Amino acid sequence: MQWEPVIGLEIHAQLSTRSKIFSGAPTAYGAEPNTQACLIDLGFPGVLPVLNEEAVRLAVRFGLAIGATVSRRSIFARKNYFYPDLPKGYQISQYEEPVVVGGALEIHPEGGASKRVGITRAHLEEDAGKSLHEDFQGMTGIDLNRAGTPLLEIVSEPDLRSAREAVAYMKALHVLVRYLRICDGNMQEGSFRCDANVSVRPLGEARFGTRTEIKNLNSFRFVERAVQFEIERQIEVLESGGEVVQETRLYDPDRDETRPMRTKEEANDYRYFPDPDLLPLVIPEAMVESERASLPELPEARKARFVGEYGLKEADAMQLAFDRDTADYFEAVAATCGDARLAANWVNGELAAGLNREGLDIACSPVSPERLGGLLRRVADGTISGKIAKQVFERMWTDGEEADAIIEREGLRQITDTGALEALVESVIAANPKQVEQYRAGKTKLLGFFVGQVMKATQGKADPGLVNRLLKERLEA
Ligand code: ADP
Ligand code: MG
Repeated sequence: MQWEPVIGLEIHAQLSTRSKIFSGAPTAYGAEPNTQACLIDLGFPGVLPVLNEEAVRLAVRFGLAIGATVSRRSIFARKNYFYPDLPKGYQISQYEEPVVVGGALEIHPEGGASKRVGITRAHLEEDAGKSLHEDFQGMTGIDLNRAGTPLLEIVSEPDLRSAREAVAYMKALHVLVRYLRICDGNMQEGSFRCDANVSVRPLGEARFGTRTEIKNLNSFRFVERAVQFEIERQIEVLESGGEVVQETRLYDPDRDETRPMRTKEEANDYRYFPDPDLLPLVIPEAMVESERASLPELPEARKARFVGEYGLKEADAMQLAFDRDTADYFEAVAATCGDARLAANWVNGELAAGLNREGLDIACSPVSPERLGGLLRRVADGTISGKIAKQVFERMWTDGEEADAIIEREGLRQITDTGALEALVESVIAANPKQVEQYRAGKTKLLGFFVGQVMKATQGKADPGLVNRLLKERLEA
């Protein structure tokens, strides 16, 4: 029998606000435990939550970017459960009326066809604290710094059909939230994490099978592995005559397997009810309109424009367009040098390699886009060759100088003077009679050898195209 996996993801994105969603405590990551939790985050009796407007604004921005309906009115609910890192005994979330409803996202699975994935809803809620199991012998520590950090929980439709599609979806969402500057996307710090719902059904069957939910996946690789493991496990259970139990499972990266954590709660276990401490959230039209007006060009549209306007290859355009700082950098280089494809090759090539080597963000590049553009202008107009440009680039990287200054001082201009090169060609031919004979006897691969000799004699400064032509003419005369 052929089985079809069905997957839906719930992604938690921490919103980039300075303070918590219902209190004024800071959200900065990495502080000493329990130094950033105020009475409200600690759930003391008598305190009242006050909604952070910025969190709402960021949720609205997200809704607009995925073509969703932004609810003009939504409500906060209490989701009741007991856990040591949740001192109030409930999490404030949204249940029946979330702030964002509907929408879709384009995904690009590796080696597969692009497709649109539906988004069911996105709602605002507060994060819980953290239980620390490692630092204490026989005890668990509780750090409540994270309690009350604003989260946008983004729930997909069960539209994904493989582990690869699940990862592609998570990546597309990761690109988008960072583009919108609503979440820093830092997965090590838990700013962007995922619960995966997985089921399988016989191919062609319309109804979904029973699903399991794998909690707290905090890397792309873990999502792919966990979902793949779970698909295979469920198929095995079904093929041996068993039934999949609806439950919550945990992924163990060390053993690369999922195992049961608890049977799945139903919504009614949480006894959701509207939070009496918070008024319904009514979003003013002006907020929606100001967010709409300031929405940046989105990654998909920008990629399409890079292909259409600059003639870039799809893959290059995607690499450049899917990070906002990279896209901005690239466009500034292209504007300065006037050759977009050259700019694309350099930004994705030399520059990316340098940043990668030193672990730098493009926003902190030691070579500014204007300077790189200035260098590439000299490649485009033939002043220097691509090879020399790489040397100059290294100098610019370490010394922060402009390309023109380096080229002039070091005398790196390309030799395009035919007369000067002809003389060199002559002397190389005279010095290598054996190779000339072999070439003329048909071993034309030797052209590379001759070009190499001339380039060497000019320390790489000869115009390679011209050298090629002159050598060929002379050898074949
Ligand atoms: P809950 O809130 O209990 O986790 P939801 O109905 O909100 O349940 O669904 C959560 C996620 O599970 C959604 O992303 C949805 O697409 C996905 N999902 C629902 N049913 C299935 C199924 N049978 N197989 C796989 N995923 C599913
Ligand atoms: Mg769930």
